[in-house]
Amino acid sequence: MTMTKSYIAKSVESMRPSGIRKFFDLAATMEGVVSLGVGEPDFVTSWSIREAAISSLESGFTSYTANAGLIELRREISHYMSSRFHVNYSPQDEIIITNGASQALDIAIRAITDPGDEIIVVEPCFVSYAPLVELAGGKAVTIGTTGETGFKLQPEQLEAVITPKTKAILLCYPNNPTGTQLDTADLQLIADIVKKYDLLVIADEIYAELAYDKDHTSIATLDGMRERTILINGFSKAFAMTGWRLGFTCAPEDISSAMLKIHQYAMMCASTPAQYAAVEALQHGMADVESMKKDYRRRRNYLVQSLNEIGLDCHLPGGAFYVFPSIQSTGLTSEQFAEQLLLEEKVAVVPGSVFGEGGEGYIRCSYASSMSQLQEAIKRIGLFIEKRNMNEVA
Ligand code: PMP
Repeated sequence: MTMTKSYIAKSVESMRPSGIRKFFDLAATMEGVVSLGVGEPDFVTSWSIREAAISSLESGFTSYTANAGLIELRREISHYMSSRFHVNYSPQDEIIITNGASQALDIAIRAITDPGDEIIVVEPCFVSYAPLVELAGGKAVTIGTTGETGFKLQPEQLEAVITPKTKAILLCYPNNPTGTQLDTADLQLIADIVKKYDLLVIADEIYAELAYDKDHTSIATLDGMRERTILINGFSKAFAMTGWRLGFTCAPEDISSAMLKIHQYAMMCASTPAQYAAVEALQHGMADVESMKKDYRRRRNYLVQSLNEIGLDCHLPGGAFYVFPSIQSTGLTSEQFAEQLLLEEKVAVVPGSVFGEGGEGYIRCSYASSMSQLQEAIKRIGLFIEKRNMNEVA
């Protein structure tokens, strides 16, 4: 151990680096890779949104905003959340603009977690949840959902892991990596348990806008759930604004003011030009969201049908921009599959195992990629599967 390494906090030392990174790093050293690996839109942010940021800079708006964010933007978010998702939050006291949904998750978890508190994390899920809980001094209690139930959390699974130390449950629908969406009846069963055991929900709804077959239902709209829910959302996915680093939280006033304490010391405020851009996104950007959504829907349908045709069993997910086909028929682990596919056919996908319990046996393919790239990827994956089938016969 080097001298400087001994200074690293134990909670950080024991953290594993994200399993997604390893594949990106390997793919980056290779030429001609078709990537279905990344979880970000292939679209460039709409011009009018970019122009709003430029114009804010031209006007000299280069100082900090209020800690919670520009009041104009909070008003727009309040209006947007109410008209799109039927939840009402006060721009003054219940909305905080953050550096991406990532930071929103961090302040939400830290604001409610005392040492030893248990936060239930439903897997497979976005890779940051459990590490953020552990960094906050809490214990991440994981539940693995399965392909048999379409990766929907089953109420009895939830009830089985609740203890007196359970504080909250972290939910993400539409889900990364499975694309699974929950409908109102599914959410109601979860909400009943949350209320029965007096818990909170942190609902990561970053993909709420990307729901293809039926509109997203926010758990906060269910009876008695608004006061138990911290909503996480942001501009990265729907508005193709990943690099702008802009997200937000919506939560009851006392939880919001707790989150704001952390935010004001750790971040001060989100980037000012990005906030001006986001005002424009909410005022005039919805037509572009709809048009990107149309493209995603077409790509999703193509990918699901093609994967099933080449022998990888794949359910039709309701949202986000991922499909999560089973690779169990190949007899490979998801890591072996992803590694061999990358090295042999130069297609980057993410092994399901990096998303936690329930992810093994699956791979995540992102369709935030052009149709021609998806077609090329399917051709190569088809070849990869064919070679294995031939070996089996031989
Ligand atoms: N939550 C989920 C489920 C995600 O997939 C991502 C990004 N991959 C984030 C949060 C983070 O988003 P942001 O860019 O807003 O930090």
